Amino acid sequence: MKDYKNVIQKIRDLFNESTEFIPLHIPHFSGNEKKYVLECIESTFVSSVGQFVNDFEKSIENLTGAKRCVVCVNGTNAIHLALLASGVNEEDEVITQPLTFIATVNAISYARATPVFVDVDRDTMGLSPSSLKRFLEEETIMKNGYCYNKTSGRRIKACLPMHTFGHAARINEIARICQDYNLTLIEDAAEAIGSIYNGKHLGTYGLLGTFSFNGNKTMTTGGGGAIITDNEELADKIKHLSTQAKIPHKWKYEHNEIGYNYRMPNINAALGLAQIENLNYILDRKRALAEVYIDFFTSIGIDVFQERENETSNYWLNAVILEDNTAQQQFLTELNDAGVMCRPIWELMTDMIMFKDCQKSDLKNAKWLSERVVNIPSSVISRRLK
Ligand SMILES: *Cc1c(COP(=O)(O)O)cnc(C)c1O
Repeated sequence: MKDYKNVIQKIRDLFNESTEFIPLHIPHFSGNEKKYVLECIESTFVSSVGQFVNDFEKSIENLTGAKRCVVCVNGTNAIHLALLASGVNEEDEVITQPLTFIATVNAISYARATPVFVDVDRDTMGLSPSSLKRFLEEETIMKNGYCYNKTSGRRIKACLPMHTFGHAARINEIARICQDYNLTLIEDAAEAIGSIYNGKHLGTYGLLGTFSFNGNKTMTTGGGGAIITDNEELADKIKHLSTQAKIPHKWKYEHNEIGYNYRMPNINAALGLAQIENLNYILDRKRALAEVYIDFFTSIGIDVFQERENETSNYWLNAVILEDNTAQQQFLTELNDAGVMCRPIWELMTDMIMFKDCQKSDLKNAKWLSERVVNIPSSVISRRLK
């Protein structure tokens, strides 16, 4: 049986850490983070009104090319808001992938809709357009221009693919299929800030795209999220919903629907503004690390995820693909026991008690990946690596 001592040694060398614990992913603060947060505190505008929130939204619009951005308190409620703005409600179903972080599916549940699970592609880890097409052809019918599930009778209103670890799903093919079936495309781009596919930032292919700025993501606001769209009306609606649906007025408290307290506080946006100023540096260092990993793992016969053609991945979390489940478990045990943090890709959502009875397609790729993929330490290393 193989052992992974060479892998442990390589990662310890890279992180220049011979004995201490190496975490999976820590944030990188080397820009204006302290300056802006201090400025925010001194202004007293630490809550959801202030200049940093507006500036941070503008900077995400500039980065992604989206017309509008609305920031909120985390990536989970970013998805919730996107679903609500799309008119998804308890009568509806939303197609998503079984291989994702629970937030994707929890957000569908918050909107009181029902998830339907369709398989992923092995080489993207994102929703498979061929499985999606097959599911729609076999399991749905179109009535008055809308797509209905033959089994449940409910309308399928939206499709919510996820860009796994910052790598692009086959999003233009997915977008075309969604158009044919009149499904609203919402991209869960929580893991994909800074990732480009065919010249467009991920999250801009759908009607709406969402990001997370949690502490473990490529850039962070502590906790935070964002929704991007080119649709002004939807952006206004999302901002309204995220601020308790209060009708703007100098002193009067009037609300015209049930809203949410989801707006990102100014102090988080101050951190975010400094992070986004430094994003190119963060992406450059993460790419350098990914290149070293690709060379190393290829040389020892272990597969590692790489960006595909026409793609610039942010390489949020590097991921190796072990040969089978035994190898995955052994890799996890050896590295974690040696103080090198590693984590398996998620268990399938369809194996969770809350979602086990949901409708699903054949999920053989998702299952295959779930049994083999492991994330390895991927924090920014500032030192030159080659
Ligand atoms: C991180 C993440 C989210 C959102 O997470 P928050 O912790 O709520 O910011 C949503 N979907 C995916 C796939 C994620 O990885």
